[in-house]
Amino acid sequence: MSNESTPGSGRADPDLLPSQPAARHRSEHRSVLLRYADQVVGAAADLLALAIPSDCVGCGAEDHQLCPHCSRQVRRLTAEPFRAEAAAPALTDVDGRILLPVVAAGVYREELAQALLSFKRHGQHRLRKCLGRALADAVRTATGDRQHVVLVPVPTSSAAYLARGFSPVHLLLAEAVRQLPGAVMQDVLAKSTPGGIRPAGGQKGLDRGDRARRVRGSMAVRRRARGTVAGTRCIIVDDVLTTGSTLSEAARALHRDGARVAGAVVLAATRPPVSGSLDGAS
Ligand SMILES: [Zn+2]
Repeated sequence: MSNESTPGSGRADPDLLPSQPAARHRSEHRSVLLRYADQVVGAAADLLALAIPSDCVGCGAEDHQLCPHCSRQVRRLTAEPFRAEAAAPALTDVDGRILLPVVAAGVYREELAQALLSFKRHGQHRLRKCLGRALADAVRTATGDRQHVVLVPVPTSSAAYLARGFSPVHLLLAEAVRQLPGAVMQDVLAKSTPGGIRPAGGQKGLDRGDRARRVRGSMAVRRRARGTVAGTRCIIVDDVLTTGSTLSEAARALHRDGARVAGAVVLAATRPPVSGSLDGAS
């Protein structure tokens, strides 16, 4: 800006002009503030990085999110994916008929449980790789030679998503899909907010019947995705299998939209494979 353009300042020494130096001062002040803000944000990011455990989640070995030994343990615990629906009450009927077949990568215990728990809390990159590979192996076991599979993740509740900032199941499945040529993830399910009165205190204190009743109707195919999986053979994916009520609800929601649900795959089942069944005893 030239001095001549400023009214009444034609003769003045630019250094004596009050307005511009003050403005420069303000902008310097502002840039100092911004730099300071940057530093504060940077420090906060450092703090967050510190909050994510960098030591091995299995044995505490320093500077490994998952040390080579514990990584091998996870591989060992997921080396033989197995059929897990028989131990999940919501997935078989009273006569023991299978309502939804499920393949689990491993039993929810030891290093596998520790790795999954820590991943669900903090989303560590190395754990995602290791657990994603285990999930991919379980999908392969479930689908056999079939190349094209549509994998549908179980939706996270919005409260859990807000608390964590990510959905563990979606991240693990995305990792698994990278290792499965021909597999696609179709994120079509969403939690629906039931209109009924919710008892305080979450799911704790509810018996199994109550829980199943609450889960029923809690999921649906997203409005924008309606019809996209109709006639498609889908496999539902979740992280942990307990009673099976979540998987069963996911299957119901997909069926309502016309999908053909071939089964489900989970990373870990809380109960080991059923042994000593009538089949096994004979
Ligand atoms: Zn370790």
